[in-house]
Amino acid sequence: MKQMIQAAEKRCEPIFQRIDEIALFNTEKVLNALQRHQVAARHFAPTTGYGYDDVGRDTLEKLFADLFAADAAIVRPQIASGTHALAMCLFGLLKPGDELMYASGAPYDTLEEVIGVRGCAEGSLREMGVTYTEVPMRDGKLDLPAIRVAMKPQTRVVAIQRSRGYSSRPSLMPEDTEPLAKMLHSEFPYACLMVDNCYGEFVCEKEPTQYGADVCVGSLIKNPGGGLAPTGGYIVGRQALIDRVSYRLTAPGIGREVGSYAGSYQPFYQGLFLAPHVVAQAVKTATLAAAVCEAMGMGSTPAPDAPRTDIIQALELGTPERLIAFCEGIQMSSPVDSMALPEPWDMPGYQHQVIMAAGTFVSGASIELSADAPMSEPYTVFLQGGLTYSHGKLALTRTCEYMKKKGCL
Ligand SMILES: *Cc1c(COP(=O)(O)O)cnc(C)c1O
Repeated sequence: MKQMIQAAEKRCEPIFQRIDEIALFNTEKVLNALQRHQVAARHFAPTTGYGYDDVGRDTLEKLFADLFAADAAIVRPQIASGTHALAMCLFGLLKPGDELMYASGAPYDTLEEVIGVRGCAEGSLREMGVTYTEVPMRDGKLDLPAIRVAMKPQTRVVAIQRSRGYSSRPSLMPEDTEPLAKMLHSEFPYACLMVDNCYGEFVCEKEPTQYGADVCVGSLIKNPGGGLAPTGGYIVGRQALIDRVSYRLTAPGIGREVGSYAGSYQPFYQGLFLAPHVVAQAVKTATLAAAVCEAMGMGSTPAPDAPRTDIIQALELGTPERLIAFCEGIQMSSPVDSMALPEPWDMPGYQHQVIMAAGTFVSGASIELSADAPMSEPYTVFLQGGLTYSHGKLALTRTCEYMKKKGCL
């Protein structure tokens, strides 16, 4: 098994070289931004109460705006998850009578309840009088002609999701944003383009805001937190849009002026500094997993040498036995909760049983090595994260050995 992994790694070497180049580029980008904003120990200090003039908070927001080439940013530990950040953005930008369009097909599962297309719709956009429409992707690309036809005068937010999430369509590259942004800005200037950027940050050299996206949204316990941010989310974009969203963050008229954090901001800054490197470790782990899968005659998307835009790797294991053994193996190879045994369970909101492996320092952080899968055909597992490539490689080796011992490889 070790030899097989070694051979797969050998084949990945030229790909790893390109990943290192991107990490170097993005590290320089972050380093330059930290220096430009003269980050110092005073920015790490905790604050209490209203948090007026919280320089740690304000500077972190300026850094994010700078890195995304955006006017402004909201970056807060009070944002509880990626879904919270996306919901805040949508509720900030949409008014009763407006329409939301998802132009990359069905959104991430948790967004369905925010929109109100699944569940009881209580508190959802639908309950507030916001209508919804969806344009599927075509041949793995955004379908511009279909989007143009589906645009209405009340379509105020056009959303796309960069990462495939747990669907079978390909992920979108940051540059795929550009033709849609150009079309919207010239033909439908009243609409804004929002990108769900979860899992995409620092995988490429540029972000969707650099290709015309009006707002970009993500989670700090994924890529941009670098494995150190303990919680939080971000929204970056045009000033007027960020202002509107900030009134949902706190209250109209108050916006980003308040919000304290009694913990230190240091992990947010240090995590951002580490993020390009950590993301590269995760992308290398994903690439190796794809190469190993291929060597064993199983399918994987993306293929080992395909260009990447997110940290997710789908591995087509083919049988329920392999799927369970793979998740058990990843869990057993984790630095935390290695004694836990993952089991398929009826997760709320999912059609099939789901099995998840995550032995993480930050609870639920998927920038740390983790795997999840619905217990259904074609028994594909989604692997993501890995704080260090060494751990990724070790975990894959141990998992393959475990699967072999269990007789399913
Ligand atoms: C993770 C993710 C979300 C939701 O984030 P949570 O932190 O799980 O709420 C939304 N969209 C995409 C593409 C994601 O990967």
